[in-house]
Amino acid sequence: MSDIWNEMLEAARRVQGPREISERVYAGGVAAAIESASGRIYTGVCVDTSCTLGICAERNAIFNMITNGEGEIRRVLALMPDGTTAAPCGACRELMAQLMPGRYQGVEVMVDYAEGKVMTLGELTPEWWL
Ligand SMILES: [Zn+2]
Repeated sequence: MSDIWNEMLEAARRVQGPREISERVYAGGVAAAIESASGRIYTGVCVDTSCTLGICAERNAIFNMITNGEGEIRRVLALMPDGTTAAPCGACRELMAQLMPGRYQGVEVMVDYAEGKVMTLGELTPEWWL
């Protein structure tokens, strides 16, 4: 596995940790790390709420990147509560497609870290609706 994927996994592990923020808000079961075009790694955790205003870890990490002035993604890794990695959900894929129209296909996604399985967002989401 390349160094960048290892760095991303460690970055996600550092922020992962299920916690109750309040009786209505839980966070941290899933963590994500994204590598931006500049090579910087941004992290985020899932936030689950009673009223569906929560967010996936991947989108939280992407918004962290946007907050810090960037808008291009190279790689995405999502760390599940059981320590495995998985592909982003449809909403997260949609955000990445809208963030990088015509270029999102090249974003690399860690599908299975243990197996070293990486797919592109174009392979996972071949026919965007726009
Ligand atoms: Zn998602």
